[in-house]
Amino acid sequence: TPGIRPLIAGNWKMNGNARSAHELAEALRAAGPSLDASLLVCPPFLHVSLVASALLGTSVAVGGQDCHAKVSGAHTGDISAPMLRDAGATHVILGHSERRADHGETSAQVMEKAEAALAAGLTPVICVGETEAQRVAGEHEAVVGAQLEQSIPLGFITSGGIVAYEPVWAIGTGRTPTEDDIAAMHDFMRRELVNSWGPTASVTRLLYGGSVKPSNATAILALSNVDGALVGGASLVAADFLAIARAV
Ligand code: PEP
Repeated sequence: TPGIRPLIAGNWKMNGNARSAHELAEALRAAGPSLDASLLVCPPFLHVSLVASALLGTSVAVGGQDCHAKVSGAHTGDISAPMLRDAGATHVILGHSERRADHGETSAQVMEKAEAALAAGLTPVICVGETEAQRVAGEHEAVVGAQLEQSIPLGFITSGGIVAYEPVWAIGTGRTPTEDDIAAMHDFMRRELVNSWGPTASVTRLLYGGSVKPSNATAILALSNVDGALVGGASLVAADFLAIARAV
């Protein structure tokens, strides 16, 4: 989209250890400045701090994969948005389909988390996307439209919040929607966001996620209203992640 610098974001999920996280960060250190895209990596909570330290002074941003809606308190095992910020993160992925499936997260909860993220100065990356059954039933636009409406809080668009379209059936499966289907969904999301939030939403970054790899990145990243990618599996291999970034 004109006026938007593309973003290639890596979701490392629950992978690696301190050593591999550090190695991956080191491999990305040098790459940032020569690219036509911004880079973001989202390690497991435990490695956010060390990855942020390794990438300090570079243009590669660091994010969490979730955060709690509260600032602090009796929430065993959770991590708050201010904690992520304190550890060096600038972004946080929210409402990933694996969080929605594994932890029963609802769009209403995603909205509360996004509010917490914004209040802490983090940029939320809100994930939306239909299941395969919903796509087959022709409900994909209705599902994604409802997720956008129910999970995006006031202030998100004006603060540069990011939306990622991730069809659940394309995550980690090697399958992707057709280029026409991706473009149609991204055009739909742009229309919905501009309708709801006004012209500021014309420069909201809309990422595509789901089995993005070096071999399909060029075609996907060239599509209408695709302003970058959220990459899972391929983000764990520095060469692949950078190849995707170079496809911009
Ligand atoms: C993801 O889970 O955000 C994702 C896009 O995964 P993958 O690239 O492995 O399909």
